[in-house]
Amino acid sequence: MQILHPFAGSIKQYLEVLSDPDRFRPDHCPQCEAKNPLMAHGFYCRTLVDLGFDGVIRVRRYLCQFCKRTVSLLPQFALPWLRFSLMVISLFLVARLLKGFTLAAAALAASQRTMPYQRGQFWVRRFRKQAPTLALSLAPLAAPVPTPDLVTRALTMLESTGWITAHRVLFSELRTHLLGWPQFLAPQGRCTTLLPASPASRGYTHTICLDSSGHRL
Ligand SMILES: [Zn+2]
Repeated sequence: MQILHPFAGSIKQYLEVLSDPDRFRPDHCPQCEAKNPLMAHGFYCRTLVDLGFDGVIRVRRYLCQFCKRTVSLLPQFALPWLRFSLMVISLFLVARLLKGFTLAAAALAASQRTMPYQRGQFWVRRFRKQAPTLALSLAPLAAPVPTPDLVTRALTMLESTGWITAHRVLFSELRTHLLGWPQFLAPQGRCTTLLPASPASRGYTHTICLDSSGHRL
């Protein structure tokens, strides 16, 4: 199970504080609700593209000694199952859907000059589909404003709430993903298919998602 790492600094700062397992150790298990602190259980690695960063980050895992299940602390600037950071995706979506930029200009606004246009189309398609859910779910956080459509309304609410704040609340409390869960993780972001894990992955299943043209998402 993934929960969000309560950390709001830069990627560099995140990587520095990771070495201390006590710093953000959950004091109870979010899965079985056992009231004992979880045991540090290593890391897994995932790729991340952010403004000025394209590489691999470690994600800390903990183990519940009662239910024997693991919990990983995903930094809140990253989105589950997507390689690109929340910042990059939000800059692109605002430029494309709120400001009316072309796909190429929106990619530039997100500092992704060489990004294949299919990736941007994919984000737009997913956001459009998720917009009604977001507009509804964000109502307690941001006063709805009159807008011509739900996509504009959801974007306006995300901008006024702050994308990371909105992501943290929606993911932690409702298990809602800003771009919607893919079918293999729906409805709550948990893998329902057990796949054989390599010894190196220590039980974590790495998933690489490709669009119809074979580009990594
Ligand atoms: Zn547990």
